[in-house]
Amino acid sequence: MVYQRSASKVCGLSLHLMVLFRGTAGSYQAWADAVGDSAYEFENLLPFFKKSVNFTAPNIDVRGGPAIPYQSSAYDPAGGPLHVAYWNDYLEASPYIRSALQEAGFRETDGIESGSLLGFAQWPATVDPDAMVRDSSETSFGRQAIESTTLRFYIGSTAKKIVFSGKKATGVMVETAGITYKLKARKEVVLAAGAVRNRLAPEHRLKADGNDSSVRHNYSWFQASVQRSSSVR
Ligand SMILES: Cc1cc2nc3c(=O)[nH]c(=O)nc-3n(C[C@H](O)[C@H](O)[C@H](O)COP(=O)(O)OP(=O)(O)OC[C@H]3O[C@@H](n4cnc5c(N)ncnc54)[C@H](O)[C@@H]3O)c2cc1C
Repeated sequence: MVYQRSASKVCGLSLHLMVLFRGTAGSYQAWADAVGDSAYEFENLLPFFKKSVNFTAPNIDVRGGPAIPYQSSAYDPAGGPLHVAYWNDYLEASPYIRSALQEAGFRETDGIESGSLLGFAQWPATVDPDAMVRDSSETSFGRQAIESTTLRFYIGSTAKKIVFSGKKATGVMVETAGITYKLKARKEVVLAAGAVRNRLAPEHRLKADGNDSSVRHNYSWFQASVQRSSSVR
């Protein structure tokens, strides 16, 4: 399978189609059931989804074309920092695409953000509503963290190994410009290395020190770690 991905070291979201959608309520229910934790149910995650997004309704005067149905209840006016809006370009082919989908038996809905993906809808994009340029995890969450928190970014660095003391994660071995060093965790190690990769050679992939099974890729490593240590998530 060919799977295109970003070469960015910090924010994989810098390469994607900019479609803002959320998983189905059923998929989150399956997740909650699998781990025995109702926190993963769609209704319980929705407040956090809303909290992350700053939504701007479609600007039909600028965009042109007919009104766009959208789900204002899927957003919180106080949300942010990720900007979500509709492109200001109306695609002239839209009515024909709509007719073709309806003829094929699909139902038009008012969005793809409220736990149901059955049917078709016009999608909101992760875009700055004024400049109409991409808003990414770096330009939104990353910038906000740099400007208003003490969070430190290690640019151009690779996490090589999670360090364990018994079954508790206590730090990370990191490499920057060929130099390897250890970052100690005050509270916990949060793994957010993405489910699909790996640009690195197998011998360079992230390894969990003290765990007996070697790591094939981050996803299986992540699953193994969740079972082994509650301090890793
Ligand atoms: C072509 C494409 C189009 C997509 N379009 C959309 C879309 O329109 N809408 C949508 O919602 N989703 C889309 N997706 C999916 C979306 O991009 C992913 O679901 C999302 O980026 C996953 O976020 P993540 O933080 O889990 O992982 P990632 O975004 O993969 O981030 C993980 C980051 O960790 C870094 N990393 C990995 N290992 C290490 C290490 N050892 N040390 C240091 N850093 C490391 C990686 O380089 C990466 O930057 C698309 C994906 C692709 C590939």
